[in-house]
Amino acid sequence: MLHSGTMQITENPVAGYERVVVAEAPESGYHAIIAIHSTVRGPAGGGTRFWNYRTQEEALQDALRLARGMTYKNGLAELPLGGGKAVIIGDNTTKDRERIFRAHGRFINSLLGRFITGEDVGTSPADMEYVRQETVYVAGLHGRSGDPSPRTARGVFRAMQAAAKHRWGNDSLAGKTVSIQGCGHVGYFLAEELNRAGAKLIVSDVDKEKVDRVISAFGASSAASEKIFSVEADIFAPCALGGILNRQTIPQLKVEIVCGAANNQLFESSDGDLLEERGVLYAPDYAANAGGIIGGCCLELMSWDLQTTLKRIDAIYDTILRVFELARRDSIPAYAAADRLAEQLSSNPV
Ligand code: NAD
Repeated sequence: MLHSGTMQITENPVAGYERVVVAEAPESGYHAIIAIHSTVRGPAGGGTRFWNYRTQEEALQDALRLARGMTYKNGLAELPLGGGKAVIIGDNTTKDRERIFRAHGRFINSLLGRFITGEDVGTSPADMEYVRQETVYVAGLHGRSGDPSPRTARGVFRAMQAAAKHRWGNDSLAGKTVSIQGCGHVGYFLAEELNRAGAKLIVSDVDKEKVDRVISAFGASSAASEKIFSVEADIFAPCALGGILNRQTIPQLKVEIVCGAANNQLFESSDGDLLEERGVLYAPDYAANAGGIIGGCCLELMSWDLQTTLKRIDAIYDTILRVFELARRDSIPAYAAADRLAEQLSSNPV
């Protein structure tokens, strides 16, 4: 146990993880876990999630799952980053942010650069500014790489082109119909890319204003939220929530490809098998949505210039094709091929 100011930092070893550390600073209302899954390719990169977990165990399980996911995402994109994740336990609507995020910065700094963080659910660029006051190991700051969503959308668009190439022998999306669930940050910019490429759009969002914005900007048509799974289209792009590909929704799909930005789209891995059985080509989410981390973390912290960054985002096209080819060669579903390739790449030092 180590005391850093009034912060108590405790190692919590977990098999398969390089380090799992818990920090508590009761005076700052701060309680967090950082899980470092792997630093084989470089410092563990992963966002900070702020969530009202019911117990420390629940937070730990989330941190472990997300940290491993980051190793896969960063490995598959062949970034000079390993995988990790931070979770802060508490009410993420609190106004008392400076004390919490400065404590978080001190915690991150105590890991001496083995973990680099950025925004995630419940945190914002303003929170990262507080973290920055205590450590340099943070990305996603105001005025630096900025909102990652346009770059995430670009990566999803490239993944879609690769899926089209694999499925139809041609990567043009002109004249294809794409249904998009969620017209938020990524959904909007994805609609823009697709409109430019000549695709037709059917969009849905629980927020009507967001739907109207995409309709007026890109001439999209709309579907009710609950109907978006069953609209006739060529491609479905989930850009809202996780877990939306499941036993209830998959049988409704009338598309040939699923490719979107949302994290953890498969409710469980057997849903990836179900998509395969139904002849739907699935572009694994963490391969398709890596544009955000490439354009955020790498641009800011790895001194990549804009051109290198954009080239790496465009290379998501090649990664997706590689995944589909491995799936075909080994007769496994695409989600399993992505995991297999990610495991292999994440164990190779850069
Ligand atoms: P966002 O919050 O800006 O947008 C999500 C949108 O989905 C919102 O407009 C919301 O109203 C809508 N929504 C919620 N429930 C819905 C439902 N049932 N049906 C239709 N719409 C619904 O989030 P975002 O930044 O655009 O991210 C979208 C997804 O992509 C998330 O899963 C996120 O984790 C993932 N992702 C985002 C980035 C990024 O750069 N922003 C990077 C990687 C992954």
